Amino acid sequence: MLCERCGLHRTRRNIVVGRGDPGARVWFIGEAPGFKEDEKGLPFVGPAGQELNKALEFLGLGQGKYYITNLVRCRPVENGRNRPPTDEEKAVCGEYLLEDLGKYNPGLVVALGRHATFSLLGDIGPMTKNSGTLWDFGKHGKVFVMLHPAAILHNPDLRKRWADSLEKLKKVLPCI
Ligand code: URA
Repeated sequence: MLCERCGLHRTRRNIVVGRGDPGARVWFIGEAPGFKEDEKGLPFVGPAGQELNKALEFLGLGQGKYYITNLVRCRPVENGRNRPPTDEEKAVCGEYLLEDLGKYNPGLVVALGRHATFSLLGDIGPMTKNSGTLWDFGKHGKVFVMLHPAAILHNPDLRKRWADSLEKLKKVLPCI
């Protein structure tokens, strides 16, 4: 049976699990599907996804070298618009994510934005301060913290910080 653990099953069109290869050593974890992702059943296929695709290219991560998923698998929506996931949605759906992390054990998880970061590491403080930092993630390897690509679309002033953290990530990748 399809998941009905939270109320998002009532409004979703598709459950959005992942794209890329879950056996890859690098996973990117976003917040939750938006309109386009819900429609297509794939993560990061809208404007934020275009930004993420550019980052993958910069990092030299081609097919088979990455996996992209979200903390929450169904689109959080209110009055037809995207909204942030609730604590309950994050907790319930985060269990699937942790199960998958345990199953595939990627060496590196890139947490995109506050929701993914805080769910994995707890409240580590402001994202603008912590983007571009590497954290120990116990048996799951390491977490690299980044801003969410949608944030830089909304606020171009953050683009430099995004670029700087990509440079750092590029240096970390060969060690994974
Ligand atoms: N933002 C996310 O966090 N995830 C997506 O899949 C799309 C946009």
